Parts: sequence; structure tokens; C-alpha cells
Amino acid sequence: MKRREFLKKTAALGIGSALLPATGFPESSRDQGAAKGPVVIVSGNGEVAARHALKQLQQGGEVLDAIIGGVTLVEDNPEDITVGYGGLPNEDGVVQLDAAVMHGPTHNAGGVAAIEGIRNPAKVARLVMERSDHVLLVGEGAKRFAKAHGFPEENLLTDKTRKIWLKWKETLSDQDKWFPGPDDEYSELLREYRHNYGTIHCSALDANGDLAAVTTTSGLSFKIPGRVGDSPIIGAGLYVDNAVGAAGSTGRGEANLTNLSCFMIVEFMRMGKSPQEACLEVCRRIVDHNRLPHLRHKDGRPNFGVNFYAVNRAGETGGAGIYRPSRGYWVGDAKGVRELEMGYLFERREE
Ligand code: ASP
Repeated sequence: MKRREFLKKTAALGIGSALLPATGFPESSRDQGAAKGPVVIVSGNGEVAARHALKQLQQGGEVLDAIIGGVTLVEDNPEDITVGYGGLPNEDGVVQLDAAVMHGPTHNAGGVAAIEGIRNPAKVARLVMERSDHVLLVGEGAKRFAKAHGFPEENLLTDKTRKIWLKWKETLSDQDKWFPGPDDEYSELLREYRHNYGTIHCSALDANGDLAAVTTTSGLSFKIPGRVGDSPIIGAGLYVDNAVGAAGSTGRGEANLTNLSCFMIVEFMRMGKSPQEACLEVCRRIVDHNRLPHLRHKDGRPNFGVNFYAVNRAGETGGAGIYRPSRGYWVGDAKGVRELEMGYLFERREE
């Protein structure tokens, strides 16, 4: 059957999750109780996104419009150098962005990876989901797809991120031909962002009980060109099951790629764990699986951080990291928008 016919037939039959058999889970464990939206949950750098998305949802806005509208504000802001326009570049000084969206009611998803020259990858990810038969487009193909949809191509490197990158390049080795300039504000920023993992994740439960999630990032700063992190990978950097909940992550993407962390968080919530417990359980799993010597401190603990954010269908939220996160996560609901504390396994990393 052709895709259009299939879509038409399933729509005519009204086939939704209610009519499909549960896949190996008893109905009771799939239903986490009455939904209490709208609820928005956003990573620590996303207060403005939380406020935007909550307002949209409270005014009856559509859930993807609300959360993508929220993260677009951060993608457009050159002051956040971990996302979108003005994000830190790869080792060649080129900004390559990753993003994905997942929509609970249709269990559909879209993503773009290592896309260059397009400042709003989250919007492009949505178009991949809604206007193509694919889930993930990468690199040049992703850019061409975005341009076909009218996105302008632009240089995403700002003067600030170019200077941080140049400082990184010049101080990389004393065996090459690049000489470091004087110690200045960019040296300071480089110290702060050398091992930067920065990203924005936003999930929401709307008033109808439908869930959606988006994660968008410039990825690991100074990465090898072509490196794809967890953010555009469904199950790794975000995941939604409309009957259970949604989860997303920031931090070392490689750990989420090898553990499929966000899928696991949603599965733990399905089994009855609270969002916070589910996030912590996945942190424990990552620590257990972390065997490579270059990723371990002397005490055996990971030498990297990963943070998780989750919301269930009942509107409960939680967040947790392997190490005590430097900031909380944002929640928006009937009580307004506020920052809540994250759980964690360990107080602080070995220096
Ligand atoms: N998870 C992102 C990545 O690995 C980066 C981050 O969240 O800081 O690309």
C-alpha cells in the first residue's frame, strides 16, 4: 500500500493508540493516570523557552508549536554559545548543529544532524517529520532540505565564537605553526567551554494529555567535523511515549548514544518509577557501563557529566545528573515557571 493510501485508510479507521494492541505491556502499566497539563520542562539554560512554551499552551497553542517556539528563542540568541546561531564550532571553526523533535500522539519524529548554515535546526527537524517520509537527515542533505523549505543559509559563527575557536586552535599544541595571542577574555571563555556540552531540551504535556519533546544543540565544542551527538537521535537525546511520558538530556552525548538513555528513562517510568527516580536510575546505568579508562577518574567515576529531564503523563517532573548540576531545571505549570533542583549521584567530580 502506498504511504498516502495507508495514511488515509488508518485515518478513516480512526486507528490510534486506543485501538492498537499494547505491545507486551499490560494496559494498566501503560496508563499512568489522568493527564494534568499543560506542563513544560526545560534544561537549565531555557527559562525563556519555558515561559514561552507555557504561555502558548495555556492559550491553547499546539504542543510542537509551543516547545519549538520556545527553543527557537534560545537558538536565535548569540549569548547562548551552545545552541543555534552563535553556537561553538567544530575543530575546523564551522558550526554544525544537531536537533530532533518527537511527537507523542503520532509517535513520529524528525531530526537533523551536522547541519551547517541554518540557525534553527529544531524547526527543520519538525519539517523532516511532517514533510518527508524520513526521520533523520544529515549534513549537506539536511541543509538542502532546509533551503528547499525557505530557510536562509547564513554564517552561524559570531565574532565571539570565532575568537574562542581561534584561541583553542592557537593553544592546542606547541608543535604547530599557530602562536597563541595574549591571555584575554577569550582565554577565560575557552577555559569555561573547552569541554563544553551545552544543549537545550524542552518537553511538554498539553491540556489534552499529549506529549512532545525537542532537543537542539551545537554539540560538543571543537568536535571532529561530522560528529553527531545524542540530540538528534531518538531514544538517546530525547524520547516520548504518549502513554507514559517524555525525557530529554544534555551532557556527554556519547554516553547517551551507547545507553539509549532517554528511551530507558521512559521505560522506567512505564514500570512505575517517578520521573526523578527514572533519571537517577539511568545515571547509575551509565556509571556501571562506563569502562573505558580515558572516561574514568582514578576513583572509577565518569570524568564527564550527563543530565536528564523527564515528565510523565500525570504531569510530574524530575531531573537528575551524574554529578550535582550547577543549576536546576525549569518547570512551567499551573503554579507558574520556576527552577527546581536536580537530583544527582555524586557531589562533585574529582579534579
Ligand atoms: N548532548 C550534546 C551532545 O553531546 C551536548 C550537550 O548537551 O552538552 O552533542
